[in-house]
Parts: sequence; structure tokens; C-alpha cells
Amino acid sequence: MVALSELRFDNRFTASLPGENSGGTDPRQVMEACYSRVSPTAVSRPRLVACSPEVSELLGLRPEDTTGADFVDVFSGNRLLKGMDSHAACYGGHQFGNWAGQLGDGRAIALGEVIDVNGDHQMIQLKGAGPTPYSRSADGLAVLRSSIREFLCSEAMHHLRVPTTRALSLVTTGDLVVRDVLYDGNPAPEPGAVVCRVAPSFIRFGNFEIFASRGDEATLKKLADFVIRTQFPNIDDGSPDCYVSLLKEVGELTADMIVEWLRVGFVHGVMNTDNMSVLGLTIDYGPYGWLDDYNPNWTPNTTDAQHRRYRYGNQPAIAQWNLVQLANALYPLVGAVEPLQEALENYAQHFEAKWSQMMATKLGLTNLKDQRDRELAEQALAVLQTVETDMTLFWRELANVNFDSSVDEKERCAPLMNAVYRSDLMTSDQRASFVDFAEKWSARHRELGNNAIEVTAAMNAVNPKYVLRNYMAQLAIEKAEEGDSSMVTELLDVLRLPYEEQPQYERFYALRPDWARTKIGCSQLSCSS
Ligand code: AMP
Ligand code: MG
Repeated sequence: MVALSELRFDNRFTASLPGENSGGTDPRQVMEACYSRVSPTAVSRPRLVACSPEVSELLGLRPEDTTGADFVDVFSGNRLLKGMDSHAACYGGHQFGNWAGQLGDGRAIALGEVIDVNGDHQMIQLKGAGPTPYSRSADGLAVLRSSIREFLCSEAMHHLRVPTTRALSLVTTGDLVVRDVLYDGNPAPEPGAVVCRVAPSFIRFGNFEIFASRGDEATLKKLADFVIRTQFPNIDDGSPDCYVSLLKEVGELTADMIVEWLRVGFVHGVMNTDNMSVLGLTIDYGPYGWLDDYNPNWTPNTTDAQHRRYRYGNQPAIAQWNLVQLANALYPLVGAVEPLQEALENYAQHFEAKWSQMMATKLGLTNLKDQRDRELAEQALAVLQTVETDMTLFWRELANVNFDSSVDEKERCAPLMNAVYRSDLMTSDQRASFVDFAEKWSARHRELGNNAIEVTAAMNAVNPKYVLRNYMAQLAIEKAEEGDSSMVTELLDVLRLPYEEQPQYERFYALRPDWARTKIGCSQLSCSS
């Protein structure tokens, strides 16, 4: 463990790749460069709201160094440490299916790569630290509400074992930021905030796309070689098929991430190619949301309300579409279509295998190789849609279904009824579909001779009890905006052990309250952040 000033930096990204140093933050097209050097903007009265002890430990910081004025100064962007090399990355992207040209880190400023306690590189990055050459007409700032959402969700996802960027700290700046939350002509000042994000790399599909779109093969190749060398040591760099291997690996990591999203009920909300990490990490927490009632057509993002491109159930297909864009970007380095196509097909196969495996574990089974088990998984997803049913509660309660033959149908099915929003309004047919599923699931476990205690333990390890329901984050935000950040800390705490019974937090294991059904922030989120 070291003091803040002793953090060790090794800035491979800026040292190995071309950048530009012109300094200013004037919006501009940045050519033949992977980044622009830029410094964070000073803030007036920084105050620490929350810090993730796990991330500070990963970086090797002593606990006493994460509370003082020095920490707040550095992670609000008011002071750079020796060894930092602050910069904003240049990338492009496809937004909602259309090429959007240069985007880049418009309000994220990377500080440098820390060598963590395992000897690995961790890029640390401030989000909301002021304008960069990529800010276009925007201010480069972030508001408290979106920063709380990013901070809490990054850490919640990590503890759920979903690949994600991490969050070290959340600081309020003391400055006000004007936002029009509903895009309805009512801009209002909100408290500004800065989150420090942490990941081995923040490189996105769009970092490759920008150079390919400009025909800049030289920089494209430098970036691809760098990513292979630093992030994919198992790929033989310099080998003729290394860029195809890169696409294949990125595809598998992406598939793994999407399967985990589906497992826990997460909807990213803005799966543009500039928001897709080449490491398969969940990145850029904006108008994301969690399924309360299971509805594969749900999207939290108001900007996406019409076409629902980024709805829960469409995420696997969109990831594939995004991988096609990455394949197009890598094409100039490969010069042949077929191997890239094979790598894309591998995504679909890999996803299917991982999805089946994931669904099996949710059901307490080993795999879905037997057709009956496959049907059981399909039946579960169908039952979840017969009537408004809470996804998290349904899966968690399934482990409480007693599959012993001595139990009668009604008693057996009772736990699942806890997941139904209005069980008093259920028709007899709807009840029958729940009963039929509980009976079939039980019969299968009896047939396999499974031990109830073992099945429960295995299911509870993959079906979380606590997720960051949209209304929970919203409650924490409303309190924090009034100056009381205690609920941010409380949620960080409960979400640290999402699979464990935590009797003191039982209130968070419940159906979404009725008031949250249609409330902004709870059921719908805009991109305004
Ligand atoms: P997002 O939809 O949040 O992923 O953002 C898309 C692009 O807009 C990225 O290049 C962001 O850096 C940029 N951007 C979003 N909000 C701001 C802001 N307040 N100031 C500057 N750039 C922004
Ligand atoms: Mg983004």
C-alpha cells in the first residue's frame, strides 16, 4: 500500500501511440492521432461523496489516503500527480445505426495508467472534468444524478460478476451545471460532479472506426498492434491473422458480457459503437436501466423510445451489428472478407453456447443439452411474460420452490407468486401456467436426483437477490441533491454482496413500488447527463 503521491504510473497509451499536443480545448477534427493532451478544468469546492474501498485497494492506496483533501483535489481534477499524462482519446462511432464521425472523449479526461497491486495497468479517468477538443458544442461536465448512477452501477456490476469499468470515487464540484433533463425547454442548474473511472483500457470499437473511416491505415495499424500487444498477449502480434484473432477475441468477450447482462436484467440503453469496449467491459453508464418486470421489449432510454433499438432482448443482435462495424474497421489490415466473416459467426456460436450455459445455471441445472431442459428454459421466459412479473424476484424465488414430491401444487408454486405484480388480478389460465412450470421444473430435479440444498446454493450464486433497481438509484439521487449522500453509501454497501442474504437490507428485496412505475428516473431516462 502506498500514499497517493507514490502511485506508480506507466503511460503506455500515450507513450506508444501518436497524439497531439496543441493544448487548447477548441473543438476540432483531430487527424492521425489517438489522443489529445488536455488538462482537467479546476473546480471551486470539491467534496468527496463516496469512494470504492475495493478499487482504492486495487490501486494500492492506503485507506487513510482516500479521505483527505489531497485525494479530493486529485480526483476532482484540481491537481495532477507526478507521472500523470492527462489526455482525451479520439474515436468515432455509429450512433443509433448511423455513422456519426468523430466523437472522442468529450467529457472524460484520462490521467494515466497506474500499476495496480497485481502489477497490471489501470487507466484512471475523470468523467465530467471539463472540455476537451472532442466536446463539440457541449460543456464537458457531468451532473450529480448521472454521476451517482455511473458510480453505483459500475461497482454493483462488478460485484455481480459482470465485466465492467470500475469507479474509484465520486466528488461534487461545488459548481452548477445547467441541464434540460426532459429535453422539453426547461433547463435548470444542477450540482456538478466528477467520477473517477478505472479500467485496464477504455479503447472502444469507435477508436478503430475513426481511422478506417479516414483511410488512415497507418494509425489504424498502430492502434491495433498496441491493443494486441498490451491487452491480448495470447495473440501472436505480427502473425498474418492477428487482426482476425483480435476480432474473434473481442467478439467472445462481448458475447460473455451480453450474456451477463441478460442474466441480471441489465439494459445498457445506448449501445452505440463508441460505447463498446474492446475488452468486453460494460462502459459509459448513461440512460441504462434494470428490468423490474420482465419485458424483453423494454428500453430505459427516452431517445430510443420509438424504435427500441437498444431494448433488453435486442442487445445480443446489436452487439453483433456493432462487431460488424469493428470488422469493417479492421478490414484494411486484413484485406479479405472471409476470415472476418468467420470471426463474426464465431460470435453467434459463442453467444449461443454461453447463453445456454447461463440459463441452465439460473434453473439449477448443469446444461441445456437435453431437449427437455431447453424447453424448461423457454417455458421460464414465457411464464415471465404471461403476466407482469418481477425478473429478479422470480429467479431468486425459484430456488425456494420445494421440488419434493410430497408438496402439493399450490404450495409448491407459492414462492413464484411473490414475483407477480398484481397476483390478485391473475386469471386461472395465468395461474395454471405458473403451476405447470413449477411442476415441470420440480419433476426434472427429482428425475435428476438432485439435492435441494445444493440446488438452492447453486441458484443463489447466479440469481442475484439485490440489483440496482432504477427507483433505488433515484431515491439516493434525490437525497444526495438535498445534501444527504448517506443512501449512496448504503446502496454501495448492499450491492457489494448481491447474492447474499442481508436481513438488514430486506426492504430492497421487493417488487418495485407503485409510485416508481412511470416516474422519470425510475422507468425512463434521458441521455441528459
Ligand atoms: P454518450 O452518448 O454519453 O456516449 O456521448 C456521446 C459523445 O458525446 C461522446 O463523445 C461524449 O464524450 C460526448 N458528450 C456527451 N456529453 C457531453 C458533455 N456534457 N460535454 C462534452 N461532450 C459530451
Ligand atoms: Mg459514450
